[in-house]
Amino acid sequence: MTASYNKIGIIGAMVEEIELLHKHVEKTGSFAKAGIEYVEGMLHGKRVVFCKSGVGKVNAAVCTQLLIDAGVDCVLFTGVAGAVEPSLNIGDIVVSTSCLQHDMDCTPLGFARGQIPFQETWEFHAAPELVEIASQACETLFPGRSVKGKVLSGDQFVADRGEVRKMHEELGGACTEMEGAALAQVCVMNDVPFVVIRSMSDKADGSAHVNFNEFTVQASVNSHRIIDEMLKHM
Ligand code: SAH
Repeated sequence: MTASYNKIGIIGAMVEEIELLHKHVEKTGSFAKAGIEYVEGMLHGKRVVFCKSGVGKVNAAVCTQLLIDAGVDCVLFTGVAGAVEPSLNIGDIVVSTSCLQHDMDCTPLGFARGQIPFQETWEFHAAPELVEIASQACETLFPGRSVKGKVLSGDQFVADRGEVRKMHEELGGACTEMEGAALAQVCVMNDVPFVVIRSMSDKADGSAHVNFNEFTVQASVNSHRIIDEMLKHM
């Protein structure tokens, strides 16, 4: 499959998640806004703009809107997450079919967990074409190690097995992280296609902080390689 995008936005939350872009993108310029540096350049003959959003939903939302204002026509997220789907191991990959804020909670008012009150949708769907390109890139690089699934986001580092079980059973999540649903909501509000690629750094359980420190670099490298492979087909 080959698609055609004029200017591709790429976001990572942490330095580990974007450092290979710094190495491989042929830089043509940069600008700063809201304390975030946006680097413009070429990768595999495609125009890209990439940046480090910082951790959490507010950082991701601001960063995504500024990237869209800079004229990108799709947004890719590269990074790490905690596994929620029980079959996933550290190093496996989740390609977002949709994203939802697990910490949006107005249940005392009768809303479902994750539901944004008075809004038609609170599960934000990734662009099917980008999901396919990402999944094919995963199969090429890491056969049998990726799933398509729902990414759950919240302003919490999740390190609790009971919470993970609930996230899977009640919300149908595949992985949990801290930015995807914010980026997804901003993209949907602007009618810009997106996909989130997350390589598992931990299992969001009692060992998550140890695993996160140990596996973030390798998991970030894997996510970067998928984005890199995707660009050859965009
Ligand atoms: N850089 C800091 C904080 C990282 S917060 C540190 O080194 O401690 C965790 C980051 O990784 C977030 O960007 C989040 O999206 C992702 N992440 C990985 N595992 C996660 C988990 N179990 N729960 C929530 N976010 C997780």
